[in-house]
Amino acid sequence: MTRSVFVSRDLYTRLRALRYLLPLAVFGAVVAYEVVGFFFFRSLPELVPTLLDLLLYSTIGPIVIWFTINWIAQRIEETDRALAAKEQAEQEQRRALEAAREQERLLAAVCSNSADAILTLDNNGIIKTWNRGAEMMFGYTADEVVGKHFRLLLPPELEAQGEVEWLAREVLKQGYIRNYQTERVAKDGRRVIVDLTRTLLYNEKGEVIGSSASLRDITERVRAEQAIQQLNLELETKVAERTAQLATATEELRRRNRELEKANQELKKLDELKSEFVSMVSHELRAPLTNINGSIELLLSGDSPCYDRSHRELLQIISEQSARLTRLVQGILNVSRIEAGQLVLQPQAFDIVALIEKVLGVWESRGVAHPFEHPRAQNVPSVWADRDRTEEVLFNLIDNAIKYSPEGTPIRLEVETDGKFAKVSVSDRGIGIPADEVEKIFDKFHRVDRSDRAETYGHGLGLYICRRLIEAQGGQINVESVLGEGSTFWFTLPLAGRSEDEVMPSVRRQTGGRR
Ligand code: ADP
Repeated sequence: MTRSVFVSRDLYTRLRALRYLLPLAVFGAVVAYEVVGFFFFRSLPELVPTLLDLLLYSTIGPIVIWFTINWIAQRIEETDRALAAKEQAEQEQRRALEAAREQERLLAAVCSNSADAILTLDNNGIIKTWNRGAEMMFGYTADEVVGKHFRLLLPPELEAQGEVEWLAREVLKQGYIRNYQTERVAKDGRRVIVDLTRTLLYNEKGEVIGSSASLRDITERVRAEQAIQQLNLELETKVAERTAQLATATEELRRRNRELEKANQELKKLDELKSEFVSMVSHELRAPLTNINGSIELLLSGDSPCYDRSHRELLQIISEQSARLTRLVQGILNVSRIEAGQLVLQPQAFDIVALIEKVLGVWESRGVAHPFEHPRAQNVPSVWADRDRTEEVLFNLIDNAIKYSPEGTPIRLEVETDGKFAKVSVSDRGIGIPADEVEKIFDKFHRVDRSDRAETYGHGLGLYICRRLIEAQGGQINVESVLGEGSTFWFTLPLAGRSEDEVMPSVRRQTGGRR
């Protein structure tokens, strides 16, 4: 009997036994029944054996057959179920196997196409697999390297340092090495800086069968980093150099500053000494000059018969020169007062036209060789200023107009107002002032450099004092001039009746409340 694929071994064994046992059992039972019937049923009425036959053949027999077949059917069903379950399990196993194979194929494809070099080594470091990434990175084909030791990729110096052994030890110690930066040599001798990860490989029994190595080319990144480091280093060096230079320069500056401060202090001291000296000398000169002037005036006014014409001319010269000297001394004294902040102004409301007339009268009485054109303005409001200082300014401007214009040319004085200020101008038809000198003539001791300078006396102090005096009174002073045609000097003074702060803030400061 051949075993069906659908019948289990156990059931098959039982069925084999049953094919002998069942006929034997029927044979035995029938023989026993017939033997027993032969000896015992003879004495019984005929109906009994018939009933017993009936019971045996129509009831017990079918029942036994039913149980036997039922038992066989149940066993076959059980076997079928078991077989179906086994089939399903096998199918699942096949599917899982297929999936695993698919994954393996994918992994293999990823490995072989990866840009990183991926290789497997046996326990002795012999290369077993070599992917496309490795081919591209090192230039060797798989045929050239599979079966060879991976030290063929090592630079000689690293091999001499024992990197092969060190790597083997390290990877055995913890099962892997991650991100280890090292160098390898390509087929063409090119150095490749790589980031190496090496991992041990095990078989199903857990035995080490080799290792996998994945190498990423980081040459460009490392070179860029090195370049940046180099740049940083150079930059730091430069910064350090510059800092040192700056420190030296700062030190030098400090030293110079100290020297300058010292020089400044010395200069200040000298300036103070000079001012003191000038002031002292001027004071000392003023008294004898006043006496000389008075004496000469007396001599000139007297009608002594001792003087002939030449004596009088000589006396006149002495008088003029003494007056010049007096003006110079007065000028120097004014400058030192102004610079020492000791200028005292005594502002008051006064008639500016009347003051101009007075000054012109003085000049006219001296027999000046210039006709004066008097101011034509009428009903000019009073100005708020220091009368004596304003007179000094007027005197100076007219003196200059006389000095710097040819004899006989007119000198015109004018006054105009704009409701806030009175503007006084002195115009001459003289030599004029070069444009580039206009601002400078108000500087201390500045005189225009010209050939006729020797002919005009002066010290370059007059206009400087005028500007300081006018500005201290809240006004302005300036000049408009055409070289060779003449100049118009003008100054402004505030009109009386305006608030003091608005008019002369600096006057109050300088007068120190002595108004
Ligand atoms: P100085 O004592 O030399 O006259 P000032 O300060 O009064 O000093 O004048 C400065 C310079 O300005 C003079 O040296 C002169 O060259 C020039 N200046 C002044 N007023 C006139 C003017 N009316 N015409 C031409 N130049 C003038």
